[in-house]
Amino acid sequence: MKNMGLSRLVLVDPIDFPSEEANARASGATDILDSAQVVATLEEALVGCNLVVGTSARDRRIPWPMLDPRECGNAACEQAAIGGEVAMVFGREYAGLTNEELQRCQYHVHIPSDPTFSSLNLAAAVQVLCYEVRMAWLAAEGLPSKMAKVEGTTELNTQPATADELESYYAHLEATLVEIGFLDPAKPRHLMSRLRRLYGRAGISKLEMNILRGVLTETLKAAQGKHHKRGQGDV
Ligand code: SAH
Repeated sequence: MKNMGLSRLVLVDPIDFPSEEANARASGATDILDSAQVVATLEEALVGCNLVVGTSARDRRIPWPMLDPRECGNAACEQAAIGGEVAMVFGREYAGLTNEELQRCQYHVHIPSDPTFSSLNLAAAVQVLCYEVRMAWLAAEGLPSKMAKVEGTTELNTQPATADELESYYAHLEATLVEIGFLDPAKPRHLMSRLRRLYGRAGISKLEMNILRGVLTETLKAAQGKHHKRGQGDV
């Protein structure tokens, strides 16, 4: 990742860290390891991220919005250009990412390898995606309008909601759907996964997130018989 100009490494619950072996293998890039942030859960790692892309070597049961590595590089650079935080999430060498972990990602990236032998080594997969980010970044250099920080992007209206804001929205949504009898906790099926996929695809801004939270709050109140009239957009 350092070769490709990336520097922020977050390690989720590493088995062995700091690690002599990792330092040796980093051959000169130990600054990346020294400054790596270590967290206990993926959820913590994604706090503040506006675009979260998960990587997977195989197809999952619920098809998810997909990017190819090139589109991922472009999307990452475009998000960075508007001041957003981007996470590319990689899985364990032997087991990859769980379905639950993948559902925390708005998009999935699959390196279009030979389907009969689709799983790359983790380091090789990381390199392919970092390379695509690098290429997208270099292609946009010299296009100042594209990569320059877009004016006014700190506004609620244009700033995308972060992964942690989305997570608390999903918890609020799930509680509301149970309360109004739309979701049976005994038989949840894939409802929440499908809704995550839908909202992830929509690229929700902070303002829109406030509106959606307001809708849920009022829905819960109405379901509990505490409905009161209020104006549209009064959130
Ligand atoms: N059996 C695991 C393979 C893990 S390979 C699985 O099916 O996911 C280790 C990691 O490398 C994966 O979690 C993913 O982050 C990355 N990776 C490997 N092959 C990939 C591919 N073809 N496309 C995208 N990421 C890949």
